[in-house]
Amino acid sequence: MLSCRQATELMSQEQDRALSFSERIGLRLHVWICAGCNSYRRQMSVLRAACRRFGGGTS
Ligand SMILES: [Zn+2]
Repeated sequence: MLSCRQATELMSQEQDRALSFSERIGLRLHVWICAGCNSYRRQMSVLRAACRRFGGGTS
Protein backbone atom coordinates (compact mmCIF):
# COMPACT_ATOMS: atom_id res chain seq x y z
CA MET A 1 0.00 0.00 0.00
CA LEU A 2 1.26 3.46 -0.84
CA SER A 3 2.00 5.95 1.88
CA CYS A 4 0.30 9.34 1.68
CA ARG A 5 3.61 10.81 0.64
CA GLN A 6 3.97 8.36 -2.23
CA ALA A 7 0.38 8.95 -3.26
CA THR A 8 0.78 12.72 -3.45
CA GLU A 9 4.04 12.27 -5.37
CA LEU A 10 2.25 10.11 -7.92
CA MET A 11 -0.52 12.69 -8.19
CA SER A 12 1.95 15.37 -9.16
CA GLN A 13 3.86 13.03 -11.46
CA GLU A 14 0.73 12.07 -13.32
CA GLN A 15 0.51 15.65 -14.59
CA ASP A 16 3.85 15.24 -16.33
CA ARG A 17 3.98 11.63 -17.41
CA ALA A 18 1.76 8.62 -17.88
CA LEU A 19 1.74 6.45 -14.78
CA SER A 20 2.28 2.73 -15.12
CA PHE A 21 -0.64 0.40 -14.63
CA SER A 22 0.47 -0.63 -11.14
CA GLU A 23 1.06 2.99 -10.15
CA ARG A 24 -2.42 3.94 -11.27
CA ILE A 25 -3.97 1.05 -9.37
CA GLY A 26 -1.98 1.82 -6.23
CA LEU A 27 -2.91 5.47 -6.37
CA ARG A 28 -6.55 4.70 -6.99
CA LEU A 29 -6.71 2.29 -4.08
CA HIS A 30 -4.99 4.72 -1.76
CA VAL A 31 -7.29 7.60 -2.70
CA TRP A 32 -10.23 5.28 -2.21
CA ILE A 33 -9.36 4.47 1.39
CA CYS A 34 -7.65 7.70 2.42
CA ALA A 35 -9.91 10.70 2.95
CA GLY A 36 -7.01 13.13 3.13
CA CYS A 37 -5.56 12.17 -0.22
CA ASN A 38 -9.03 11.91 -1.70
CA SER A 39 -9.78 15.56 -0.98
CA TYR A 40 -6.25 16.56 -1.97
CA ARG A 41 -6.75 14.90 -5.31
CA ARG A 42 -10.12 16.56 -5.82
CA GLN A 43 -8.62 19.96 -5.10
CA MET A 44 -5.81 19.23 -7.49
CA SER A 45 -8.16 18.37 -10.33
CA VAL A 46 -10.23 21.48 -9.65
CA LEU A 47 -7.06 23.57 -9.78
CA ARG A 48 -5.98 21.89 -12.97
CA ALA A 49 -9.34 22.55 -14.62
CA ALA A 50 -9.18 26.16 -13.48
CA CYS A 51 -5.69 26.54 -14.94
CA ARG A 52 -6.86 25.15 -18.24
CA ARG A 53 -9.84 27.44 -18.33
CA PHE A 54 -8.10 30.64 -17.26
CA GLY A 55 -4.49 30.06 -18.12
CA GLY A 56 -4.93 29.53 -21.83
CA GLY A 57 -2.50 26.64 -21.73
CA THR A 58 -2.35 24.32 -24.68
CA SER A 59 -1.66 21.09 -22.83
ZN1 LIG B 1 -3.28 9.26 1.93
